[in-house]
This record gives sequence, structure tokens and C-alpha cells, in this order.
Amino acid sequence: MNPAWIIQTADFLAAFLFIYGLKRMSSPVTARSGIHVAGYGMLLATLAGFLYVFGISPAAAPHLTMNLGLAVGALLVGVAWAWRGGKTVPLTAMPQMVALYNGMGGGAAGAIAAVELLGGKADNAIHLTVTLVGAVIGSVSFSGSLIAWAKLDGRINKPWRIRGQVVLNSIVLLAALAVGLAVAVGVAGVPTHVLIGLFFGIALLYGVMLTMPIGGADMPVVISLYNALTGLAVGLDGFVLGNAALMIAGMVVGSAGTLLTLLMARAMNRSVSNVLFSHFGDVSLESTGEIKGRMKPVEASDAAVTMRYAGKVIIVPGYGLAAAQAQQKLYEFVKTLQAAGVEVKFAIHPVAGRMPGHMDVLLAEAGVPYDLIFELEDVNDEFSGTDVALVIGANDVVNPAARTDKTSPIYGMPILNVDQAHQVYVIKRGQGKGYAGVENELFFADNTNMVYGDAREVLVKMIQAVKELGEGSESAA
Ligand code: NDP
Repeated sequence: MNPAWIIQTADFLAAFLFIYGLKRMSSPVTARSGIHVAGYGMLLATLAGFLYVFGISPAAAPHLTMNLGLAVGALLVGVAWAWRGGKTVPLTAMPQMVALYNGMGGGAAGAIAAVELLGGKADNAIHLTVTLVGAVIGSVSFSGSLIAWAKLDGRINKPWRIRGQVVLNSIVLLAALAVGLAVAVGVAGVPTHVLIGLFFGIALLYGVMLTMPIGGADMPVVISLYNALTGLAVGLDGFVLGNAALMIAGMVVGSAGTLLTLLMARAMNRSVSNVLFSHFGDVSLESTGEIKGRMKPVEASDAAVTMRYAGKVIIVPGYGLAAAQAQQKLYEFVKTLQAAGVEVKFAIHPVAGRMPGHMDVLLAEAGVPYDLIFELEDVNDEFSGTDVALVIGANDVVNPAARTDKTSPIYGMPILNVDQAHQVYVIKRGQGKGYAGVENELFFADNTNMVYGDAREVLVKMIQAVKELGEGSESAA
């Protein structure tokens, strides 16, 4: 049986499902079904991969049965691990999971390239070049993503920076490319497998060194950059293996990831190179972060009553809302305000939370209508005409230091102008800093009051306070 046409048809269908799924992911309304569609594509491409077995003669592959067993075993382990992880991961830990999966993709691409190189299968210049480029990109993406995972998971807390880091990193990259060249042309007296081992070792080291210095608010850009690199490496492997589905899937991920990287960088008002290479070795450029003044706490009920009698309230959600899983309570509170005639809007910063679109996902989950949700550039001018800005578990994305303090690691990032509202309430548990680890002068401003507590618990009290007010006025009438 010649299964070539079945494989090609399956690959074509899989490619269609990937692209159609991605298209559906571009709107929150259809995103969930888009993930399912792309998943079916992945299943189809994976199953079609097994059909290659029918085109291989036993003489050409003496260990075919054992290899098939290993492949099925690896698939089962992978599926069980990913299924369990996907079911149990809390939304706040999704970025770590994404970083880990990115890393796995890059690692798989690197491993395929290693097999090609070690087996001497890359037998012409183009094949060899593509394999080597895929190997470098996959390896960098693998080790870099693992460092990103460790940072997001709080296992590495401080950016590691030394003077002259850009130069050092460049030397390491050049060394990887030079050894790659040596793998291609061979070096007399040095076995090829030693060169290949060295080549992968240096490429992996480069991924670590590139990611270690990056910290604070720049992580979203880095994660999506590795996503793009993983896609590119997989696409190159697809070319090497002559596998159309792999090639198309890789290119789709690579181009979507590149676009996301550029959008995230633009949202941070940075260039990608600035994210990757700025502050390297510039250890002196650390903000002292000390702010004079004091934070003024108020009771949740007092803040709620003020909002109940306000004309317009803009709500700024951040990571703390996700950590407290308070999105349902938040929407319940919003409905009580709306019932009292208050105009309410949500202002979403592009890097709020811990993954692109994090806040949109949360609000969608709570059933908040999309027409209440506004992007930064569409709502930022409205704060000065707003009675109350309610900040819930957000910190970096409302930090005015981004506008004023050139020594701040978030300097230059566009922020939501909540400080321009007449009154600001900030819900957070205590004096905890944001992801970038810097102090926030907003919390000390004259027009700001702090409502201390877990976001969910505070919102429950706020709902209660507004309801009691309504009941009180009804019974008075
Ligand atoms: P931040 O991380 O800046 O601040 C979150 C605040 O929430 C903290 O100050 C914390 O203060 C408070 N908080 C934590 N838990 C609770 C809780 N249960 N109830 C109430 N408050 C709570 O969040 P932002 O959303 O403002 O900013 C996101 C940051 O994360 C940016 O720096 C961004 O660059 C970065 N990032 C974003 C990614 C993305 O793709 N969106 C990916 C990776 C990083 P306290 O401890 O006092 O309660």
C-alpha cells in the first residue's frame, strides 16, 4: 500500500484546520472553538505521521517495531502529562505552562536536528544549513524558555546582569555559529559527534545567557519571541524532513508569534532589540524606588458607597484579580453599580496579568459584555473626566514612574492614566510590589485610597455595602 496520497491529503487538511483555528482565535467569541479546531488538526497530523511506516521496508529500518513502540510510548506519556497539566493548571500559572510548552517545542526541533546531524542524513549544503539553523534556534528557544518558565514561576527572582553582557553574549553566539560551521565542513582529528555535542552545548548556553538578564515588565515580549522562534525551528525541521504539516504548522506559529512579539513590544513602547539588549551590564541603572508620603487606607464599604453615587467609574483589573479569582464577584459588583445608574467601563492594559489577553479571558469568563471593555489607547483620555478609578490587583500597569522616572525599569511603558481620575481606590492585600518589583507612587497620591484585602473578599464587602444602601433607601421610601 502506498499511503503517500493519504498523508498529503491529511497534511493539507491539518494545515487548513491550523489556519482556520488560528483565525477563530482572533476573537474572544470564537477563540474556544478555534483551539478545538486547531487541536483536531494536530491530531490528524500526528496520526498521519504514523502512515509513513507503511512506506518503509524492514531492510531499511531493522528496528522499526521497537521505534514504533517508543514513539507510541512517548506519545502516551506526553498526552497524559499535558492532559493532567491542562486540566489542573490555575489560570494564573498559564504563562509558565506556555513557556514550558514553548520550550518543549524548541527542544523537540533541536532533537530532530540532532538526529539528522548525528545520522549524517543532512547530505547537501541546503539541507545541512537548514538543519544547523533549526538546531540553533530550537536549542536557544528550549533553554531560554526554561529560564523564562523559572522566572515566571518565581524560581529565579532576580535578573542576572553583569557588565559587558552584550559583548559576552555575542561571543557565545558567534562561537555557536563557528562550531556549527565546523560541524558542516569537519575538523581533522575531531570526531563529528564531539563537534555536534559542543555545538548544541553552546547554543543552549546562549539561550540561558540571553534570557537571564531580562526581567520585570519585559517578560511578555520574551515569551512571545520564544514562541515565534520555536515555530521557526519546527518549520525548518519540517523542510528537512519533507513533512508539509510540520512545515506549515511551524510557519503559522512562527509568523503568529512574530506578530504577537511586535505587538507586545509596541504596547510596551520598546523595540524587540531594546527589550533583549537594554540595561545589559547597566547595573547602576536601578531605581531606588523610595517614595515619600503615606498610603491612606479606607474601608471597602466607604469606597463602595462613593462609587454608588459616582457618575462614572473606570475599573482597571490586574494580576491580583486573577490571583484572587474575583472576576465573577467583580461583575456582580459592576451590575449593582449599573443598576444604580453609574456608568462603568473596564480599562485593559495589554500586559496586565501574566499573559497576553489574560484580563480579557477573565472578564469573558465572568460574562462581562465586550462593549464595556476598552483597550488602553481607547480609554486613556477618559480618566481625567472620571469620578472614580478602581484599581483591582494591578500595580505596574498603573505606575506613573513609567512616565516620569528614567531610572525605573518600566520607564517608557505606556500606563493607564488612573492617577488623573478625581478619586482612585486601589484594592490589594498589603505593600506587595508588582511583577517589575518597583514601588508605585500612585498609592501615595493625595487622590488615592487603599482598600486592603484579598480582591474577592473586598468585592464581596463592596457588593454588600451597595445592596444595603439600596435596601435602606427602599425601606425609607
Ligand atoms: P502586577 O504584577 O504589577 O501587580 C499585581 C498586584 O496585585 C501586586 O502588587 C499585589 O499586591 C496584588 N495582588 C496579588 N494578589 C492579590 C489578591 N489576591 N488580591 C488583591 N491584590 C492582589 O500586576 P499588573 O497586572 O499591574 O502588571 C502585570 C505585570 O506582569 C507587568 O509588569 C507585566 O509586564 C508582567 N507580565 C505580564 C505578562 C503578560 O503577558 N501579560 C507576562 C509576564 C509578566 P499585594 O501583594 O500587596 O496584594
